[in-house]
Amino acid sequence: MHDVIVVGGSYAGMAAALQLVRARKTVLVIDAGQRRNRFASHSHGFLGQDGASPADIATEARRQLQAYPSLRWIDGVVTSASGSKDDFSVMLDDGEAHFGRRLLFATGVSDELPAIDGLAERWGKAVFHCPYCHGYELDQGRIGVIATGPMSVHQAQLLPEWGQVTFLTNDCVSLDADARRDLIQRGVVIEEALIDRLDGDADVLLADGRRLPFAGLFTASRCTPSSPVASNLGCELMDTPMGKQLWTAETKETSILGAFACGDVARAPHSVSLAVGDGAWAGAQIHRSLVWPEG
Ligand code: FAD
Ligand code: MG
Repeated sequence: MHDVIVVGGSYAGMAAALQLVRARKTVLVIDAGQRRNRFASHSHGFLGQDGASPADIATEARRQLQAYPSLRWIDGVVTSASGSKDDFSVMLDDGEAHFGRRLLFATGVSDELPAIDGLAERWGKAVFHCPYCHGYELDQGRIGVIATGPMSVHQAQLLPEWGQVTFLTNDCVSLDADARRDLIQRGVVIEEALIDRLDGDADVLLADGRRLPFAGLFTASRCTPSSPVASNLGCELMDTPMGKQLWTAETKETSILGAFACGDVARAPHSVSLAVGDGAWAGAQIHRSLVWPEG
């Protein structure tokens, strides 16, 4: 019986585990190794690690964590969770069961991308969602924003901070007079021809045959929890402007008592810094719930 089982050993899960092993709790981390930013070669905006490789940040964090004797790590996939507070179990893809008094879901989210030829293979390389993460490196060049819905208007209004913006509506949003005026006031060019496919570094080929070259492209992906394990246990989901996430209280406890959640799967918006902060907070809150089980 472990004090805590952490499902998902990336930034949020490791930040929580670090607080817990430092409180000398026994922690089992189970991680499938599919970090959300695995498509990008550089991570930006995380203090002290700006521009570092996302994999290097995770590898060094794991090395430091595994130096604590009460930490156990399994590379694997959790396929189900059951039980209740003080008596949870999780099942792995190898058929083994593991037991813990508390559960933490730090399983991240998956990005549903617009179905445009050539987009998925450029994700994290020339197509991004977060201007704070990848805007600066475009050197104030031409930026295309590919609409996925009404929220994309806000993305197009924000991005002129980083370069000359063309908003590609691609039949995914209809602009009323107010939206048009706001975009034009921000210097945004509105392009309503349909997109055929992406080509080259970040060129957009339009259905009418024109080619628009960009330094980089942005699009708002739709986020869903990467793993169904928490919702199958009964943890409630909630809607956000970005998609779906697990509902938690301020303490990061889900609707299932004793089961907590942190990182992208349990907060918005999303970044490495915010996932690490959320994880550190969740770790301390789980520790408190072991000391004061009645809350
Ligand atoms: P994740 O890092 O997604 O980790 C979740 C972990 O849980 C994974 O290892 C996964 O395999 C594991 N897992 C899931 N289900 C299971 C299961 N059932 N069993 C076992 N393990 C499981 N943020 C920045 O701050 N700067 C950037 O430059 C930046 N660039 C990005 C580029 C791209 C292309 C994308 C998509 C995102 C980027 N982000 C960036 C955002 C950043 O990746 C996320 O905010 C961050 O990874 C969230 O951390 P997390 O620990 O919550 O989840
Ligand atoms: Mg994590």
